[in-house]
Amino acid sequence: MDSAVQKPSRIAPSVDYEAEGKQFGHLTIPYSRNDSAWGSMWLPIVVVKNGEGPTILITGGSHGDEYEGPVTLLKVAQFLDPAEVSGRVIILPALNLPAVRAGTRVSPIDGVNMNRAFPGERDGSITRMIAHYVYTELLPRADVVLDIHSGGKTLDFLPCAVMHELEDKALEEKTLAALRAFGAPVGLVLLELDNEGMLDTAVEGMGKIFLSTELGGGGTLRTDTLRIAEAGAYNILRHFGVIGRAPAQEEPGEARPTRLMHTPDSLCYVAARDSGLYEPAVDLGAAIEAGSVIGRIHFYERPDRPPLELTARRTGLVIGRHFPGLVQMGDTIAVVALDYESS
Ligand code: CA
Repeated sequence: MDSAVQKPSRIAPSVDYEAEGKQFGHLTIPYSRNDSAWGSMWLPIVVVKNGEGPTILITGGSHGDEYEGPVTLLKVAQFLDPAEVSGRVIILPALNLPAVRAGTRVSPIDGVNMNRAFPGERDGSITRMIAHYVYTELLPRADVVLDIHSGGKTLDFLPCAVMHELEDKALEEKTLAALRAFGAPVGLVLLELDNEGMLDTAVEGMGKIFLSTELGGGGTLRTDTLRIAEAGAYNILRHFGVIGRAPAQEEPGEARPTRLMHTPDSLCYVAARDSGLYEPAVDLGAAIEAGSVIGRIHFYERPDRPPLELTARRTGLVIGRHFPGLVQMGDTIAVVALDYESS
């Protein structure tokens, strides 16, 4: 670690992490700029603490065009009653606040993707400063991290809770139990195409339980994906003994079993081999055979060219797809997952 990592963050919290009760506060990020010389940015944070118990850190809005996280966390923050909490819940509903304000995946200020910015930089741009604060101040306090993601404007997913295969098998077992407890229709053990700089990797590297989600997408909210996110957040708090009850409508009726799936290799990902208009041949949730057509790319300026057929390279379930009708060469246009037998 270089000395910049060891110096404390320049971000100041208005909350006291050791205080009992519920605090609505903010992280003050110095942000001097043309329209505010001595200005700062206030990143919302909620801390609910009561007595002994684990600390659960829940984040939303890591990508600013994904809405299940922020809306769920604003509702959870309103609901939680410290008298009914055992331990501590730290909530960041809009982790990349500038991106949430703009409704964009990455921050419009520095162009940085929050989920590629970890462990962050004390003296870096805004996104890297936030990541550094989370890495140095919040992750050490947390026992469990739940980071709620969705597909955003460019992807759409069958609602999944997501984890990674881990070298630490004891940690993998605990994470798998949390994955099932979340209660999403699909529990996905995901292979990341590019895991460097992710919050996931940072938390797992500390030997802590990390769970994420991919819930819907398209840059909007749906009632079903929001319901899964809300029930999932309460299920996780209950699973770790931090709360005893959820709002009445979130109490699990008949527990829905989670279908465990995984993406064991890069063959599960189908990339666009050209640019054009995308015609899906199957919808999310469809079973598909390796070699069969998953979609076609049409060339709107070249009617003489036949469409390019894209085929699945794995037999499985279509759990993710490119959302906009326009695709560019290199886009991930579909993700195929296979049933997973946990060892
Ligand atoms: Ca995301």
